[in-house]
Amino acid sequence: MADLLHFQIYLQNQAASLRLKIVQSGEPVLREAARPLSPEEIASQEIQRLIEAMKETMRDAPGVGLAAPQVGYALQLAVIEDRPEYTRDAPREQLAERERRPIPLQVVINPKLILLGDPEIEFFEGCLSLPGFMAIVPRVREVRVECLDERAKPRVIEASGWHARILQHEIDHLHGTLYVDRMVSRSLTTIENYNRYWKEKSIAEVKAILVTDERR
Ligand code: ZN
Repeated sequence: MADLLHFQIYLQNQAASLRLKIVQSGEPVLREAARPLSPEEIASQEIQRLIEAMKETMRDAPGVGLAAPQVGYALQLAVIEDRPEYTRDAPREQLAERERRPIPLQVVINPKLILLGDPEIEFFEGCLSLPGFMAIVPRVREVRVECLDERAKPRVIEASGWHARILQHEIDHLHGTLYVDRMVSRSLTTIENYNRYWKEKSIAEVKAILVTDERR
């Protein structure tokens, strides 16, 4: 029994050691262009460990996406996952409006992003590197991403709705871009105030209150 307890503590420590520090806005790596990975690098123990640690870090945060620059590496690598439990308590109509559906884990390496339309879908989004804040960000509804997976196999991801939003957000990170570069700046809010004042309103209502043409 004592041994088992010891083993559990050991496992917990192992899991804890996989969690990486998420760097915050202002850290230069978040503004760098990340470099692509070669298939040999992808197969290496270092990158495979980094992928595992990024999954763990994303789930621990918790977040629906994490890009390598957010843990300090200027590499074209991101992980994405939207687990069913994250939205279990969210209103159905809100999920439908956002086109938010669970996404199984995806490892996205050296992505080429093709936008299939104009950035006209607006919702509040946030970022683990700018904790505590949210803002309205216009994004394209549908994208196609050509990339490599964790086995260095070519993949094509066709995505729409919230999945397309997450892909655009994470791939932006690989180019040194943060959501604040694209946001409707007058909509920037703390999460606390988002929940207090804006959560129940439609984006059109929020914009009618906060944004006038002259002050956008
Ligand atoms: Zn982010």
